[in-house]
Amino acid sequence: NTQILLASRPQGEATVDNFQLVVTETPPLQEGQVLVRHHYLSLDPYMRGRMNAGKSYAPPQPLGEVMIGATVGEVVESRHPDYAVGDQVVGMGGWQEYSVVDARQPGVLRKVDTRQVPLSYYLGAVGMPGVTAWYGLVKIIAPKAGDTLVVSAATGAVGSAFAALAKARGCRVVGIAGGSEKCRYALDELGFDACIDYKLHQGDTQSLARVLQQDCPQGIDGYFENVGGWIMDAVMLRMNAFSRMALCGMIAGYDGQPLPMSYPALILTQRMRLEGFIVSEHMDVWPQALQELTGLVASGKLRPRETIAQGLAAAPEAFLGMLKGRNLGKQLVKLI
Ligand code: NDP
Repeated sequence: NTQILLASRPQGEATVDNFQLVVTETPPLQEGQVLVRHHYLSLDPYMRGRMNAGKSYAPPQPLGEVMIGATVGEVVESRHPDYAVGDQVVGMGGWQEYSVVDARQPGVLRKVDTRQVPLSYYLGAVGMPGVTAWYGLVKIIAPKAGDTLVVSAATGAVGSAFAALAKARGCRVVGIAGGSEKCRYALDELGFDACIDYKLHQGDTQSLARVLQQDCPQGIDGYFENVGGWIMDAVMLRMNAFSRMALCGMIAGYDGQPLPMSYPALILTQRMRLEGFIVSEHMDVWPQALQELTGLVASGKLRPRETIAQGLAAAPEAFLGMLKGRNLGKQLVKLI
C-alpha cells in the first residue's frame, strides 16, 4: 500500500517537502473490517489548515501519519455482513491506495450508486463540497427568487454547486474567479449570469466594487464567501440592507496571510447578517442536500468539470496547485 504522510509542518507556504511517500504492508482484516481500494482521492482546502499545529475548528493532522482525506472506491475484501466485494463506497480513506475500515462504526462508509452519478462526483458536487454550497445557500443566505447572489472561488467544487442550486431558486448569480478561462467556463457551462475576473483588479477594492455594481445593478442580497480579504471588502461595499453573508472559507489567508476587514461598520449600517459554518457539524441536512444535488446531476443541470491528477505520488503537487487556483473545478487524484 502506497501512502503519503505529513512529514513536517509548513512555515508559511506549504511545499512538497512537507509530505513523504511510503510503502507499507496492509494488515490482515479483523472481524467487522473491510478493505477498500480507492479510485479517487479528494484534495480540499481544509487540509491546509490541518497541516498546521495551531488550534482551529478541526484538530491538527498528527505528524508521521497518513494525510486525512475523503476517498471513493470499492470494497475488495470484507469481514462485515453489510459490505460485499464490489460495493462502491465513499469514506475518509486518506492519502493512500487502500484503507482498512472498521465498518461497525456508524457513518464511516457510505454505499453509493453510480447509475446516475459518476463515482468521482461523490467527492464533489454530490459530496461534501456540494452540501457545503447547499447549507450556506439554503440555511444562511435563504434567498427569494429574483435575489442577486455573489460567490467567490466561483468555479471551484463549492462554487459550481452553488451556482446550480441558486439558479434552481430563480436567483441572479454572479461569480468571482481568477482568470478569463474560468470566467468563460462559469458563463458557458455553470449557468452564472455574470463572472468577474478578480485578477484584472490586482487587489484594488474600489475597482472590483465598480464592476460588481455593473453586474449587480440591484445590489447584492446574498454573498457566499470562500476567499476573504480585499475581495470580501469589495462585495461588502455593494451589499443591500438586510443582506446575508455565509462565511464558508477564507482561502486567501490559509498560508497565514492576515485578512483585515476594511468596512465592518457596513454590517451595522446595512443591517447585514454574517454567519460562519462548518458543514460537518450539520449532518442532519446532508440527506436533503444530497438528494437535491443528485437530482441536479441526473437532470444534467449540474455537470461541473474536474481536474484529475494521475497517481498518488502526484497528490502533493496537485494539492499545492489547487490552493493557488490551478484547478478548474473539483481537484481529484485518480489512483487506479
Ligand atoms: P476550490 O475548488 O474552489 O479550489 C480553491 C480555489 O480557491 C482555487 O481554485 C482558487 O480559484 C481560489 N483561491 C485560492 N487562493 C485565492 C486567493 N488568494 N484569492 C482568491 N481566490 C483564491 O475549493 P473548494 O470548492 O473545495 O473550497 C472553496 C472554499 O470553501 C474554500 O475556502 C474552503 O476552505 C471552503 N470550504 C468550507 C467548508 C465549510 O464547512 N465551511 C467545507 C468545504 C469547503 P481562483 O482561480 O478562482 O482564484
